Amino acid sequence: MAIRRSTTKRNGLPTIVQLRLTPTPAQADSLAAAVLLCNQATVVSRLAWQHRVFTVVKLHRLAYYEVRGRVAGLGAQAAVRAIARVAGAYANRRASKKRAHIFRPHGAVPCDARLLSFNRDARTVSLWTPTGRVTLPYTGRPEDLKAIEALPLGEADLICRRGVWLLQVALTLPNPVVREPVGGFVGVDQGVANLAVTSDRAVLPGPALPGPIGGNGHVRTLRERRHRQRRRLQKKGTSAARRVLRRLSGREHRMMTDLNHQISKFVVREAERTGRGVALEDLQGIRSRVRAHRLQRRTLHSWAFAQQITFTRYKAARAGVAFLLVDPAYTSQACPECGHISRTNRPARGRFVCQRCGLAGHADHIAARNIATRGITGWAAINQPHATGLPSPRRDRESKPPASTGGS
Ligand SMILES: [Zn+2]
Repeated sequence: MAIRRSTTKRNGLPTIVQLRLTPTPAQADSLAAAVLLCNQATVVSRLAWQHRVFTVVKLHRLAYYEVRGRVAGLGAQAAVRAIARVAGAYANRRASKKRAHIFRPHGAVPCDARLLSFNRDARTVSLWTPTGRVTLPYTGRPEDLKAIEALPLGEADLICRRGVWLLQVALTLPNPVVREPVGGFVGVDQGVANLAVTSDRAVLPGPALPGPIGGNGHVRTLRERRHRQRRRLQKKGTSAARRVLRRLSGREHRMMTDLNHQISKFVVREAERTGRGVALEDLQGIRSRVRAHRLQRRTLHSWAFAQQITFTRYKAARAGVAFLLVDPAYTSQACPECGHISRTNRPARGRFVCQRCGLAGHADHIAARNIATRGITGWAAINQPHATGLPSPRRDRESKPPASTGGS
């Protein structure tokens, strides 16, 4: 039997399941009141900040009676919860202690066991509100309802989004069995000019999928514009400029995260649809291989590459798709047809022409094909360690560039 090495933690995949609550109008009013009240934790937050008291126990001593006095209708449980929440918001975040943490009045309210209880057989929840407990039926996607019924539940957040009451419940899904990648691997080359190019010639992200390989002009343009804006602001150096800078970096971060989600989603779905696994380069290799020119180096975020790996690994595990990180040595210089490895196979930036067999193509696509091939050999090496009774091939797996296989 093949021995599988799980690429995720043994104990499963943390995930968030969303349930929809269906309150009556009166119940909805009670929920709204509860959310408003719980978010008055801001009162506690100001106290904590003023007195520089950030631990639960001390904050409780400081704030409990004052908060119950100042926020009419706040039950004992909700007050305890608010204090814990404020302490949590300040914990381990030195930056957040620079000013009082504000809770948005209609923001999500984390519910602990005293605020919320499940009746899973009846598919209802019971929630604390200032006007008494309310019992609400919930609905959701069939697979989510099944998960809610079968698995231990973690924390839950109560939120109202555009008039719809939702409960977001954290739980841990068991690891699905990883299917044998009978169709081979999808290789993904990560880069700066093109965020990701697959061995199927898809350039990601992009509206033209799978389109001709032209580069993600929009991503690059956006990054360059941000960089110019950033430099202008840094020169200014005023506090207003610094504020804008902080916001910019947040926006940039969110943009990259969003793109990485799109890319990993596409790649894993493609692999799942075609019975393949997903192979990416080891991050260490990407860092040393990417020789970006100055402008690009500045905008190159290595965390974005790491994030792409994390997202893809997670989504693959969730879908039961094989996932592998491969050795990045020579992926951009080796010919996937004849195996010839040479610097001269790269006559120009972004271009690959094999000096032995003449295979030509976009360098990123060629690299992705090499990564896909290494996925197959790597998978075989991991999954048949003792099949022949010979010493395990693990030791020399991935440590050398692939040997020349054809040509003369
Ligand atoms: Zn060749």
